[in-house]
Amino acid sequence: MSVQVLDGKLLAEEIKKRLQDEVGFIHNETGCLPLIVNVMIGNNHAACAYANSQKKAAEQIGINYRQDILDKDISAEEIIAHIKSLNEDKNVNGILVHKPVPGHIDYPIIANHIDVSKDLEGVNIVNVGKMLLGQTKIIPCTPAAAIEHIKSTGIDLPGKEVVIVGHSEIVGKPLSLLLLAELATVTICHIGTSEAGKLVEHVGRADVLIVAVGKAGLIKGEWIKKGAVVIDIGINRDGDKIVGDVEFEAAKQRASFITPVPGGVGPVTVVMLMKNAIEAFRLQNKKG
Ligand code: NAD
Repeated sequence: MSVQVLDGKLLAEEIKKRLQDEVGFIHNETGCLPLIVNVMIGNNHAACAYANSQKKAAEQIGINYRQDILDKDISAEEIIAHIKSLNEDKNVNGILVHKPVPGHIDYPIIANHIDVSKDLEGVNIVNVGKMLLGQTKIIPCTPAAAIEHIKSTGIDLPGKEVVIVGHSEIVGKPLSLLLLAELATVTICHIGTSEAGKLVEHVGRADVLIVAVGKAGLIKGEWIKKGAVVIDIGINRDGDKIVGDVEFEAAKQRASFITPVPGGVGPVTVVMLMKNAIEAFRLQNKKG
């Protein structure tokens, strides 16, 4: 059986075209374009690179994008005051606070001050609850990107064994809820699973395997079930290369579909932020 490598750049381009049409429609209807504000605390190189890729995607789609760079020593109260001013500004449709934030700032407290209808990353606790209940279309971007890749394979999810390795608040946990909503049979593995010596057994059952750990080559190719769909979210530096959490070449011998790192989930994640901005605009402009 030959494997298909899931090209994230290609998928991102396809989704961007759809979003361009949606933004065109919004502009015709309202005369407005959505505006995203990215709040950056401090100004480091990695954060700027990620922000630049967001800016580029926004420009391609026709969404306005602004970066508000705040001083790295700013107090939590001052950040909250800034966010409140963005909440009240009718021209601002979407807000995100770039992570990681400096050590003296408690990110969840900041996140909970982002207006629920402008919270582009779904991090306000109200949106976390709404996602649990299936009451929002604003979905955290990386889980949403993983789902887009899975759906692009055409796999029928109800009843499939989906194994997620990694149970973080931003990836593994939200993904598990989204896949439950698709009626998949979901197993979540984490460090405890590994320490109990059970990781290989769970990975070997997966029709769909999603890995978000941050350890290069943690998942051996030979563990993977023949024909599985493999979504690798991990990003690890290996010398001057970026690699995922799955042994890519060995996994290709067994998987039916697999995402590469880089060029798999990452490019789609950025586009999911744009999708959320359009959804936020709609939410704010809903009539009645
Ligand atoms: P995290 O660092 O918050 O948590 C790591 C998870 O891995 C935990 O659930 C932990 O229990 C588990 N884990 C650690 N060692 C393990 C082991 N030996 N066996 C099994 N499980 C183990 O995770 P995160 O913030 O979700 O990030 C995970 C990876 O995904 C990182 O490489 C990160 O860079 C990457 N990431 C990529 C994107 C993207 O858009 N492509 C977005 C977010 C995170």
